[in-house]
Amino acid sequence: MSARRTLIAGNWKMNMLSADAKALAGGLAEKLNVAGDANFEMLVCPPAILIPVVADAISGSAMQLGSQDNHMNEKGAHTGDTAAAQVKDAGCGYAIVGHSERRTDHGESDETVKAKAASAQANGLTAVICIGETEAERDAGKTLDVNGSQIAGSVPDGSTAANTVIAYEPVWAIGTGRTPTTDEVQEVHAFIRAELAKKIGQDEADKTRILYGGSMNPGNAKDLLALADVDGGLIGGASLKVDDFWAVAESA
Ligand code: PEP
Repeated sequence: MSARRTLIAGNWKMNMLSADAKALAGGLAEKLNVAGDANFEMLVCPPAILIPVVADAISGSAMQLGSQDNHMNEKGAHTGDTAAAQVKDAGCGYAIVGHSERRTDHGESDETVKAKAASAQANGLTAVICIGETEAERDAGKTLDVNGSQIAGSVPDGSTAANTVIAYEPVWAIGTGRTPTTDEVQEVHAFIRAELAKKIGQDEADKTRILYGGSMNPGNAKDLLALADVDGGLIGGASLKVDDFWAVAESA
């Protein structure tokens, strides 16, 4: 059995108002409390403005809290952005960086993602660094090349298993109901771990959690989470309902 503890992470994206966020986070925290010693860790990543509401709702539970982004700079003239120190101060332990929606909507490059991850790590957060190929890249047979170069370009030097999680999210699988086959997912995850080893050393790479993301749901989670190099999931749509997200976690 792997020493890597399964992480079930919910990316709420730009969804919910405070009452829904409170109910969802509170409902999940309650289930975690009842479950006691679960064989997985659970993380929720609400929109930045809802982080305080969620922090309050999960207080006293084992539920972990993360942001969906942080700025690469420590502070200053960056209207509308959130610094990693502010994310940490609000009660988060994790920060998603480099999600494909940010790479697309905000033109974030590997270099930007790496700087954001480094700032998260420097402020005591674990960076959840997202990578993944587009459908055109997969069709062109470039899946491994693209993911290899995103690992090389987006993971800060000196990253460790304690301050880094990788999320492999094929862009074409996000929110589409489509997923790669389990063989394809395992192939990419094993490749990512090997590329990570070149960057941070085999020991740290072996301890680093690599999550799969892209249309994971209660119906496919068991098969995906059983794969040797899949150490959890980053879940969008299915993380917005207590029962669905809990069902995914229970598949671990
Ligand atoms: C995501 O946005 O990180 C994601 C995986 O979304 P979904 O589960 O909805 O495909």
